[in-house]
Amino acid sequence: MSHSPRLVLVVNSGSSSLKFTVLPAGGGAAILSGVAECLGLAEARLIVKENGVKTIVDLVRGDHAEALATLFAHLDEDALLDRVAVIGHRVVHGGERFTESVLVTPRVIADIEAVSALAPLHNPAALIGLCACLEALPGVPQVAVFDTAFHQTMPRAAWTYALPQALYRDHGIRRYGFHGTSHRCVSARAVDLLGLDPDDHGIVVAHLGNGASATAVLDGRSVDTTMGLTPLEGLVMGTRSGDLDVGVVAHLARVGGRSLAEIETLLNKESGLLGLSGLSSDCRTLEAAADEGHPGAILALEVFVHRLARHIGGLATSLPRLDAVVFTGGIGENSSRIRAMTLARLAAFGFDLDETSNVTCVGGREGRISRGGPPVAVVVPTDEEGLIAADAARLAGIGGAEGMVVEEIADVPVRLAV
Ligand code: ADP
Repeated sequence: MSHSPRLVLVVNSGSSSLKFTVLPAGGGAAILSGVAECLGLAEARLIVKENGVKTIVDLVRGDHAEALATLFAHLDEDALLDRVAVIGHRVVHGGERFTESVLVTPRVIADIEAVSALAPLHNPAALIGLCACLEALPGVPQVAVFDTAFHQTMPRAAWTYALPQALYRDHGIRRYGFHGTSHRCVSARAVDLLGLDPDDHGIVVAHLGNGASATAVLDGRSVDTTMGLTPLEGLVMGTRSGDLDVGVVAHLARVGGRSLAEIETLLNKESGLLGLSGLSSDCRTLEAAADEGHPGAILALEVFVHRLARHIGGLATSLPRLDAVVFTGGIGENSSRIRAMTLARLAAFGFDLDETSNVTCVGGREGRISRGGPPVAVVVPTDEEGLIAADAARLAGIGGAEGMVVEEIADVPVRLAV
């Protein structure tokens, strides 16, 4: 019997990288975090950050299993491995099958595989990480947390494309939405912070990072969101175009002679802030360049804000009233300029920007940035890892209340040979 607090390992496994964070099961700051990067390449390496110290280990095979084995050896040396009581995995697409986080079983793995056609780059990568963890630590429960799950409460009119419905029935073509973990944790925090009624509120959350999406949250449930079948729809993003007349795709193919793969690369990797500015996908760089009069940077910020304000206004129509607009993600949490520009564009809602508070709420500081209201504007830092850890701890039956290791976990949810 040990009296050290139990820990949750949060894993975000992509095709060429695997991010991880170790947190106390009862909540609180990360104990250790890091990334395995360049997986599949000769320069694959594991970087662990702990107590301000960075450890870098070169990987030999450079695959996910080796990265995890190296991480587990590191955790073991620090006497942390035995305290990991559950592993929470971020999974991008849960289709219609997953409406909330779940304990991983062989059936769950098969179901994640079954929806992989909807996220061919992301879901297989998550499964590789998940299965490698199951093999390495078969006695530790694993929990899958889906980016799409929070949006499964959207009404049919919000998630249906105006296409022949056979495409939905036969191929699952509909709007799913993403960033659900962030929208869920940030909207719940905003309700607390603003003293709103948990059962009676209307909020729009703008998650603005490299990927960006906005969601209308009614009484704690997502009722509309800007991303669709894939994370390409909606807002202008770092390198993604967001909304586009799909006629452009046909035009590019016909007149420009581009292949489908080239067009997908164009829309996902070469558009958005990067394509508009011809300079960078990074908002900080663009703000600095705009100050120097760079026309592309100025245009990029203007188009970003125009689209964002238009979507926030549109999302408000899914709410009986607008109590608050919440900014989060790297840009939402730090760019007082984008926030001020956006609220200026939302004049019809009567926002009264508090300039002092707007410039103060940066670098992880939360707070209101408008006077009066409703509606009010507020900044809330996102904490996706914290929410994944909380879900994982809850589903594994550990967490805040007990917070101590009192017995080994007898219940082995799944053993999988992969
Ligand atoms: P990801 O979606 O990859 O998690 P982040 O949420 O970290 O991305 O957001 C990255 C974006 O946040 C970048 O465009 C970056 O320039 C922007 N950002 C971070 N800090 C600032 C800042 N101080 N001012 C403006 N933009 C910022």
